[in-house]
Amino acid sequence: MSLDVATIRSAPKVLLHDHLDGGLRPRTVIELAADAGYRDLPTTDPDELAAWFFQGKPDSSLEQYLEAFTHTVAVMQTPEALERVAAECVEDLAADGVVYAEVRFAPELHLQSGMTLDEVVQATLAGLRRGAEGRDITMGLLLSAIRQAAARSVEIAELAIRHRDEGVLGFDMAGPEAGYPPTRYLDAFHLIAHENFHFTLHAGEAFGLPSIWEALQWCGAERLGHGVRIVDDITVHPDGHVSLGRLSAFVRDRRVPLEMCPTSNVHIGAVRSIADHPIDLLRRLRFRVTVNTDNRLMSGISLTDEFAALARTFGIGLEDMEWLTLNGIKSAFLPFDGRLRIINEQVKPGYARLRAAASAAELVTR
Ligand SMILES: [Zn+2]
Repeated sequence: MSLDVATIRSAPKVLLHDHLDGGLRPRTVIELAADAGYRDLPTTDPDELAAWFFQGKPDSSLEQYLEAFTHTVAVMQTPEALERVAAECVEDLAADGVVYAEVRFAPELHLQSGMTLDEVVQATLAGLRRGAEGRDITMGLLLSAIRQAAARSVEIAELAIRHRDEGVLGFDMAGPEAGYPPTRYLDAFHLIAHENFHFTLHAGEAFGLPSIWEALQWCGAERLGHGVRIVDDITVHPDGHVSLGRLSAFVRDRRVPLEMCPTSNVHIGAVRSIADHPIDLLRRLRFRVTVNTDNRLMSGISLTDEFAALARTFGIGLEDMEWLTLNGIKSAFLPFDGRLRIINEQVKPGYARLRAAASAAELVTR
């Protein structure tokens, strides 16, 4: 059963890896910049700004990618701005048919106007709650520590634990992998484990297998942000049979969730094209693959677009999409009863409805 964009949009979707500062509406960036007296935006025309942020064009560079976050972070420095950005994030995801999402951001980047870390988190949670009101979506927040700023990782882990009963569902480690192996932050991960809390970490995006191995076997990560390079431990033989190395076998056997973000990987140059992305191989080998957006503004995408790209490139159908979505919700940091409720009340009935509609349409055309 092939997938059209309207079906994908109306299908219930789950998103585990999405950066709050990578998903603002261009118009909101402009308005918040005006409020804050921030004058460094490259343009104040919403369409031009959207095009400027878009990383998919051939002349994009890493410098511009980083500059893009400088702008979005610069306009998210007051409680009002954070609350608005968080609420709009939820509105946009719900309008795209997302029924469950975990968005993440790094609180330590939002202290420039004098907010405390706790105020940053509280304003963001208030925005998520406001956005979810009256909508069929459940939201969770993950707090990211930044690799380059090692000194703060324990502080951010403590912050996440402090707000766990208000909607913070876990901890994350973001930033460049090269030169910053996850074992540098063991104190933070041990604290999370000591408190029976959850964490994922960016590993194996552009950097190789050692980063994934450390994340799992030294740090105890429950999920891998990206994890693309796990493919380096898989051999596809000329006759088509596949053998797994010890690490990739472990990842598959233990059902370690891979938060894959194909379009973003292409845009930052970690993978040449969607067609070259290992997501389809990993999906066919039944790894616990999940589909995510990473940075909706910089990649110019929604979760619907991401699934549409997979349908176009690999011919995934409704059954595959349901499987990927179930992978997502099973891997969520939401407590188990909440996950079950979303599976039984939203995901399964939603896909059953779409399957029924598709077979009815088939009968009519026969
Ligand atoms: Zn990410």
